[in-house]
Amino acid sequence: RIFVVGSMNSDTFLKVENFVEPGETISALSSHTALGGKGLNQAVAAARMGIPVTMVAALGRDAVGDAVATELAAEENLDMTAVLRVSEPTGQAMIQSDADGENAIVVVAGANAANTPENVVERLAAVQAGDIVVCQLEIPEPAVAAALAEAKKRGATTVLNAAPAAPVGHLLENVDVLIVNETEADTILGTKVTDRAQQLHLRYGGSIVVTLGSHGCQYIDAYLPDADVKADALPAHHVDVVDTTGAGDAFVGAFAAALAVGESLATAARWGTALGAIATGASGAQGYTASRADVVALAGV
Ligand code: ADP
Repeated sequence: RIFVVGSMNSDTFLKVENFVEPGETISALSSHTALGGKGLNQAVAAARMGIPVTMVAALGRDAVGDAVATELAAEENLDMTAVLRVSEPTGQAMIQSDADGENAIVVVAGANAANTPENVVERLAAVQAGDIVVCQLEIPEPAVAAALAEAKKRGATTVLNAAPAAPVGHLLENVDVLIVNETEADTILGTKVTDRAQQLHLRYGGSIVVTLGSHGCQYIDAYLPDADVKADALPAHHVDVVDTTGAGDAFVGAFAAALAVGESLATAARWGTALGAIATGASGAQGYTASRADVVALAGV
């Protein structure tokens, strides 16, 4: 089983000619809404791999929150019973994208900010040895720290996707696998290096995966208790890229799914690389369809 402790948002995408300037009112060329938030994107990715996933998150007591809770339970087979409903509005992101494909984003944390350490710990009471607990950094840091500590106490394997970028080296003592992109790795290390996985492992121990966009990923496998610490790298798959939004989230979800069924870190990195590629072939963070069989076939493991 996987528990994802993280954010859920209702995202509004606005296609614009140019970003709105101070004092200006502009018309969007088109708009659409979609569910998002790193936590939810990763939970959906893992659930699409056929793994039971419990979402530990907070939604507003509003219409969007109601819709999200029922839709996801039904359509994505996510266990939403541990989702807290709070008086703050459901989290939102307003995403302008211009003709060059650049983004300008305003995030409203809303209900996501109401994830307290107490709430999160209470909702992780069902975690058992062998479960996987996945966190990101879109909820308050004390809640992330409490979730990681509780998960370790209960014998789970912890995965932290330290995104958005923040200097969170102090959180890593309870993290079994850290997954970061290059910017996030540099933010934790406080310096730019090329052997990021190696440097993070030397400094913090544990297993490390650094995703490199179209260049694949590098990893240090210190995860299996009796395995030698092993460094390796995987190339990305060649795909016709439609939209790279959410590639990292798809990677993390599939990676956690592989660990949940007892695969090695090396195989988990292959599942992540496969679903990351698949996700770039569709627009939006959750716009792709893929089953575990698709991922295993592309990953070749
Ligand atoms: P993030 O979205 O967090 O910045 P990355 O851009 O590193 O993360 O992407 C995560 C993973 O998704 C990569 O390790 C890679 O496997 C896959 N991926 C991302 N971009 C591409 C691409 N252009 N082609 C193929 N695979 C990609």
